[in-house]
This record gives sequence, structure tokens and C-alpha cells, in this order.
Amino acid sequence: MVEIVLQNIQKNFGDFIAVKNSNLKVKTGEFFVMLGPSGCGKTTTLRMIAGLEIPTSGNIMLDNNNVTSLRASQRDIAFVFQLFALYPHLNVEKNISFPLRMQKMKSSEIKERVREVSQLLRIEHLLKSKVSTLAGGDRRRVALGREIVRRPAAFLMDEPLGTLDTEFREKMCLELRKLHNRIQATTVYVTHDQIEALTFADQVVVMHEGQIVQTGTPVELFEKPKHTFVGHFIGSPGMNILPCEIKNGQINFEGKILPSNTSIKKTNFSKTQVGIRPEFINFSNDGIKVKIKRVSDTGRHKVIDTECNSGRIKILANASAEIPSENTHITFDQKYTYVYGDDWIIE
Ligand code: ATP
Repeated sequence: MVEIVLQNIQKNFGDFIAVKNSNLKVKTGEFFVMLGPSGCGKTTTLRMIAGLEIPTSGNIMLDNNNVTSLRASQRDIAFVFQLFALYPHLNVEKNISFPLRMQKMKSSEIKERVREVSQLLRIEHLLKSKVSTLAGGDRRRVALGREIVRRPAAFLMDEPLGTLDTEFREKMCLELRKLHNRIQATTVYVTHDQIEALTFADQVVVMHEGQIVQTGTPVELFEKPKHTFVGHFIGSPGMNILPCEIKNGQINFEGKILPSNTSIKKTNFSKTQVGIRPEFINFSNDGIKVKIKRVSDTGRHKVIDTECNSGRIKILANASAEIPSENTHITFDQKYTYVYGDDWIIE
């Protein structure tokens, strides 16, 4: 298994910068997720790691070897697209062994590897079945088996669960993660789905408009978003981000000075904002004055939509929480209150 490092990687398509000067490190054996909305550059980054796209500048290192100019076939990396494409007229055994037969591997070794992989994926009983007769989950296991059997140095997966319905997706995701725990293969998994990313990743990199805005564990991304985009994109509802002023190193918000963990020195930003997650706001007898506009009950939580002079603030409370009357006050948990200058956290 391999460590993957991207050093100052950039990809231009004509004048358009699809991936901007990006650095990241995927440790050996890590389950690493690339998360971001459509068009942010995830697939392009993955294709550069695979060798299917040549970077405009920067280096790609696999275990300290510079592979930037190597072709895909020279990199020993499995690129898994959506887990569909199988040969329907062949049985499971033939589908899984296909890449090994292409390599002209000895038949005794092929047999052994197919046995090992089918055991791992719990599809031994299906080896003689035609894939056209299999249920969706088993088909995906076979498709995965065909990648695993090659024993590549790393797996790159681009939205492999594609358009599956939510329940099946969650099930397959869990299976993929369990499988990863068993084979410990370095895996880079691309998704636009934050739940998928936060549930399964060791590390997540969040991309926005071709740029890496934060890399961290799911907890780090949730508790301390380094960019307002991460605050918005992760969490449901996302972080509240409202304009504030910085005066004498202090945060002025709604006519009050907010307690802060940061001493703010630089002030020449074109905009400054305060960020607080809905989970870290409490009702109180005094504090910031708000008006309650709407309460939605999800069964597990209440989402309370409030308004102050600076804009809307969402609050997340337990389903059993008592909601104050229309005009009330709120306070922010200091530990999770952040200030952003031009969208980047001020620390
Ligand atoms: P999606 O999930 O929709 O695929 P993504 O985050 O994977 O999104 P990319 O496919 O990497 O995004 O695309 C990033 C940007 O680069 C997009 O604006 C896309 O249109 C552009 N792009 C990708 N490939 C090419 C290409 N070959 N030529 C020109 N532009 C491209």
C-alpha cells in the first residue's frame, strides 16, 4: 500500500483553472474522502492521481517516487467508477478473474486470488452464477472484487455508489468501510455527500471552486471550519455566518462585544463575519436580541429560525426543548464562535 502526496498541483483547461495550487497527503492505509459540490475539481484531482490527466504544474508522489509523468498503466492504482460495469454474459468467477487473465497470470494463482477475494466479499457461493442474475448489492461486490483481485497499491473511487437510493447507499458505504478496515488499502473516495464523507472517512478534504479549503477529521471540520464554505457545506443546518465588525481587536456583533478565543490583530479585510453553528447557541435572559420566525420539528430536533438586525440565525435544539416566546435573547458558546476575515478563519 502506498502514500499519496500532491505538491502544488494545478490543472488548467485553457484559461479555466479546474484545480488550483493544491497540496495534500493521503497516508498509507488511510480512507481519505474528497468532498465538495459538483464542479469543484474532485474528479480532475482524482484523474491526476490516477495518471489519466497530466497536471499543468506540480508533482504527484507515490511513496516518495515522483510519478507525475508516468502513464496510468505504470502507477498500479485502481480507479473505480460507479460500481456497475461488469460482463453480464460471464459468471462471477470469470468477471473477477478478468484482469488477472489479461495479465496472463498462472491459472493456479488466479484461482487462489479469486477464492481469497470472494471470501473477503462473502460471495463464494455466487462464483458460478451469471452476473445478470445477481441482485444490485452482489453486483457491486463483484465489481469491487474485480478491482481488489489485482492488489493495486491504492484505490481511487469516484462516487462509486452513484445514484443508489439512500438506504442501499448507506448499507454499501458501511460495507466499503468494513472492507477497508480488513484490507487497509489506501483509498481516496470522492463524494458530494457530506453524510457519506463524515461517517466513513479518516480524513476529509473539502474542495471549493478548484481549491482545497480544509483538510481534517470529520470532527475537526465540524467543530472548527477554517473557511466559511466548510461551515455552510458541512452540517445540517450549516453554520450561521453573519457580518460583524472588528474594533480594537474585539468582535462587535449586534451592538455587543462577543467573547472570543482570538486576539484579532489584522483588520484590513474587505469583509469580516462571525460564524457559529446552530448546535452551539443557547436561549438566555439577555444577550443578542432575536425574534423567532419559525420552528420546524424533525422528530429528533427542533430547528428554530430566528432573526436579528444582521440577518437570520438558525438554532438547533432537542426535540423536547422548550421554545421561548417570539422575542427572546440568545448567546453563543464561546468555544465554537469564530471570526472570518475574507472567508478564512482568523486564529
Ligand atoms: P462532478 O461531481 O460534477 O464531476 P467535480 O468536483 O468532480 O464535479 P470536475 O469534474 O473535476 O468537478 O470538474 C471541475 C471543473 O473543470 C468543472 O467546471 C468542469 O467543467 C471542468 N472540466 C473538467 N474536465 C474538463 C475538460 N476536459 N475540459 C474543460 N473543462 C473541464
